Amino acid sequence: MMDTGTMTAWQVVAPGPVSSHPLQRVTVSTPQPGPDELLVKVLACGVCRTDLHVAEGDLAVHRPRVIPGHEVVGEVVAVGAEAGGGFAVGDRVGVAWLRHTCGQCVYCLRGRENLCPSSLYTGWDADGGYADFTTVPAAFALRLPTGYSDVELAPLLCAGIIGYRALLRTDLPSAGRLGLYGFGGSAHLTAQVALAQGARVHVMTRGERARELALALGASSVQGSADMPPEPLDAAILFAPVGDLVLPALAALDRGGVLAIAGIHLSDIPALNYQRHLFQEREIRSVTANTRADARDFLAFAGAHRMAVSTPEYALDRADEALADLSAGRIAGAAVLRG
Ligand SMILES: [Zn+2]
Ligand SMILES: [Zn+2]
Repeated sequence: MMDTGTMTAWQVVAPGPVSSHPLQRVTVSTPQPGPDELLVKVLACGVCRTDLHVAEGDLAVHRPRVIPGHEVVGEVVAVGAEAGGGFAVGDRVGVAWLRHTCGQCVYCLRGRENLCPSSLYTGWDADGGYADFTTVPAAFALRLPTGYSDVELAPLLCAGIIGYRALLRTDLPSAGRLGLYGFGGSAHLTAQVALAQGARVHVMTRGERARELALALGASSVQGSADMPPEPLDAAILFAPVGDLVLPALAALDRGGVLAIAGIHLSDIPALNYQRHLFQEREIRSVTANTRADARDFLAFAGAHRMAVSTPEYALDRADEALADLSAGRIAGAAVLRG
């Protein structure tokens, strides 16, 4: 039977710089699933840069003392009376960032539910996976591909899905030239999707270990974070939350090229020069969360193409250390908390 007692969790008690320890380890009541929800025992939870933005206060507080974490791989331990989707106790499911849309607004009806003004997010509006247990509306729980460990699956649920959407947003032509600016959890997965689709990938990042990982995965070149790639790019994705990098990324685009910005938060973009950065129909596009269709498509891709997932592991009681390491750029790949 499900444990109805207490559990260990991390809450964002006082948002601020990670050096001020915004996260606190607490004992709280195990959540109860609503009628349309699943109760999930957390087996692994990825550590995403968005968690850092929630902890540091870059994103406004939506739920005081929220439990972060939106890359949850878990086991269903209870099913609400009205929960659809055919989930049963014992199923392995994924809990991702998007957890509610209205289904009725113009964006939802157009298949762009990622833009729904009523959308709610795991680990920001509702408690997430830096805990022993979490809940998820059954309609937003994800079936997971086989062939991966729990720890390997976790980063696929945001780093993978958002990178996949960012890649779609670039409209990268077949056998195109793709530039990746920043090479962390999301980029190292996106690079593998692009390479599998026949793209040539150039990586711009300052981290030595990230550069080694990029070359090991098949990148054609690596260089400094603002350096010019060795050839013009058909498309680029900015993963680093650094507005300054928009300029070199746009300057590296070939005619008609597209730059997609993958992050939820970006420092200010300096003034652009029309000739140098935009003319010849170069474009800049943002990426806002993802639709459930993106999630299903990416997870199907991951099921068909075994991806190499680099996952430095931390025990759940070291979540604050994992965030500090992410903040300091000490992580190659995507850190994962083990339940
Ligand atoms: Zn809507
Ligand atoms: Zn995320």
